[in-house]
Amino acid sequence: MGKVLVLNASYEPLNITSWRRAAVLIIKGKAERVEHNGKTLYSDFLLPTVIRLRYYVRVPYKEIPLTRRNILHRDSYTCQYCGYTGDELTLDHVIPRSRKGGETWENMVTACVRCNVKKGNRTPKEASMPLRNSPRRPYSSLYFEVSKHLKSGMHAEWQKYVIGL
Ligand SMILES: [Zn+2]
Repeated sequence: MGKVLVLNASYEPLNITSWRRAAVLIIKGKAERVEHNGKTLYSDFLLPTVIRLRYYVRVPYKEIPLTRRNILHRDSYTCQYCGYTGDELTLDHVIPRSRKGGETWENMVTACVRCNVKKGNRTPKEASMPLRNSPRRPYSSLYFEVSKHLKSGMHAEWQKYVIGL
């Protein structure tokens, strides 16, 4: 049984939780069921896939760690120079490290081995290898997490609550 998307009282996505915790929130009257997939718990309790809290919760901004996995995910596991998708992916410093390019969301992109070698110690401009997207910091860790679930093909019913993904 899957995960449940939790919406704030304002219908904004808030977090992802287990079906168990979601069921408890509904039973206690703290949340309402917004979507379900037809599966039931016991005989008549419809398991939710999206719930909405009855009260509004304020959320602090959560930093998304700059890791290899997260950069690959941001770039949809696609080489940002040639569009290759597959296993042979590396991370490339847009401005090379030897030229003071830092390890930041804006300077790290996914690149296939071929493009990484071809680009070498040059900037995209010098190498005539334009980037397909300009790299940036993901703006919300929740949207980042939700997009991972959506890309995996599960929880299609979440899509309409996360406009822009
Ligand atoms: Zn490539």
